[in-house]
Amino acid sequence: MCELKNIKTFQKNLIQWYETNGRDLPWRHTKDPYAIWVSEIMLQQTQVDTVKPYYLRFLETLPDIQSLANADEDVAFKLWEGLGYYRRVRHMQEAARQIMEKYDGIFPEKYDDILTLKGIGNYTASAVSSIAFGQEKGVIDGNTLRILSRIYNRQDNIALEKTKKAYQILMDQLIQGCDPSKFNQGMMDLGAGVCTPRKPDCEHCPVKDCCEAFASGTAGILPVNIKNTSKADIYYITAILKKDNKYLLIKNKEGLLQNLYGFVQYEVESPVSFEETFYDNYGISVRLYEYCKEIKHVFSHRIWHMNVYIGEIMNPESELKDHDIPLYSEDELAELPISTAHRKVYDLR
Ligand code: SF4
Repeated sequence: MCELKNIKTFQKNLIQWYETNGRDLPWRHTKDPYAIWVSEIMLQQTQVDTVKPYYLRFLETLPDIQSLANADEDVAFKLWEGLGYYRRVRHMQEAARQIMEKYDGIFPEKYDDILTLKGIGNYTASAVSSIAFGQEKGVIDGNTLRILSRIYNRQDNIALEKTKKAYQILMDQLIQGCDPSKFNQGMMDLGAGVCTPRKPDCEHCPVKDCCEAFASGTAGILPVNIKNTSKADIYYITAILKKDNKYLLIKNKEGLLQNLYGFVQYEVESPVSFEETFYDNYGISVRLYEYCKEIKHVFSHRIWHMNVYIGEIMNPESELKDHDIPLYSEDELAELPISTAHRKVYDLR
């Protein structure tokens, strides 16, 4: 197995896989920065298959920066009709005019210059500068954050800005010395088709020998992605804990849901912290192995965000009674009074 420190092996495996398995997309047949920019803006909030015909029509009518800068706004908007998020096309026209004025109509090559254009953020600037101009700038989005979290087996919360910044540095290191265009597009395709949010296809992954999460069996619970936006919001890791075909539910002794049953949940930052907290409380080991989804439940004065994981209880059943760990079969579960919030979790099992 190669260590991730062996960046060359990671790059080689990814790029070789991309060359044979990469998606054949219309914008991958060009190095024209304008065309690549159009595709990246369209792809920001829209699925690949939806974008394809829009991309082709847009380039047929407005084939270059000059034509976009000079186009009647109605023409540009008509070409965008149905794609939504119309400020994208408005910003593109503004950026095209910026390029006409400041760069004599020639798309700027440098990442920092591209970033100054209207409507272009880090992701698009990285994509255009790497794909069109071969600059070593890694793309950071949900896909690449997830892959990095797994290959480095890191528990950082990818919803946080500081994690995105740290991972940008990792990506910029990983991309050094290879073909930046193929590397970034390989990462995009790996995230879209193999290293997917749920049930990653590790067996067929070209970089599995470099993946620390694969080696540790933690791919299913990464990345940690807990969005914390307001004080009224409470973020839990909620676990459906199983032992054979039985489930662990706890009766609430106090609080909002007193006397009702629910799955164990803690306000902690990561699945590993959950496992540690559970051990501290019960003296029993559990292992979370799969992330399901976030369930939101709105109370009158607060919102619960329950990030649901599935896990197993590692100790034998004979030890559980001494530790006050009640397990319930499917039939017994059906008879328990379970709160509405936890009923939503229950339906996921
Ligand atoms: Fe993702 Fe699995 Fe590949 Fe690791 S081995 S990068 S978790 S698909």
